[in-house]
Amino acid sequence: MKPMVRARKENRRRSRPPMAYPRGSGGAAGSPWGGLGILTGLALLLSGLVGGWWIYRAISASGAGREAGWAPQPTASPRAPRVGLVAGHLGHDSGAVCADGLTEVEVNTAIAREVARRLEAMGYIVDVLEEFDERLQGYRAAALLSIHADSCEYINEQATGFKVARAQADAVPEQSDRLVACLVAAYGRRTGLRFHANSITYDMTDYHAFREIAPETPAAIIETGFLYLDRDLLTRGRERVVEGIVEGLRCFLEGGASGGAPGP
Ligand SMILES: [Zn+2]
Repeated sequence: MKPMVRARKENRRRSRPPMAYPRGSGGAAGSPWGGLGILTGLALLLSGLVGGWWIYRAISASGAGREAGWAPQPTASPRAPRVGLVAGHLGHDSGAVCADGLTEVEVNTAIAREVARRLEAMGYIVDVLEEFDERLQGYRAAALLSIHADSCEYINEQATGFKVARAQADAVPEQSDRLVACLVAAYGRRTGLRFHANSITYDMTDYHAFREIAPETPAAIIETGFLYLDRDLLTRGRERVVEGIVEGLRCFLEGGASGGAPGP
């Protein structure tokens, strides 16, 4: 409703001044036919005015139609890439839970929201999605990243570090591999965590969202760290976690991390 009112007002303003038809043609009626009687002159003058008025009406009407059709345009640039971020477990369960009550879902959600805020400030369109968000069905984007964290149990001193994986059955493996490569490099650099290449599980490569999204959407899942040994980084040091993910995504979206065609 609002945009239509605005469009019509603007129209009225824009169509009046530049169109001088009515007065111009009407005024000229008197002189070339100077020999004719006053009545004829008046009649011509009148018809000129009326005719001009109809032309004027027709032009403003067609202008109005065109304006109304164009009126409400979305504000975001149609070229801004869309990025989907799944805040792991959000809307479903708590994920890993620490002895003092810290949950994986709160850690994941805080990271996802901050990554979204940064990317939006750079002009990207970002969707923060729940774990089983209905928008995941056929989801189309330049990239989808699901954000999780590992167990809060003490396992051993090796239970520190991060993992990134793509779907085992990926329809765009070259692109998703490049997304993974970008994330591994940037996240490792920013956080100083080591990449756990050997402990990537079937749960990660057969992650449910990979099967739900549109096949042409490059996608990956990241385990940002272990909630027990990497807890400081994931909570108080979240800034570095967020920067690592943002840099990794931008590397991919801007065509970095070698081996591939420029990003979509
Ligand atoms: Zn999880």
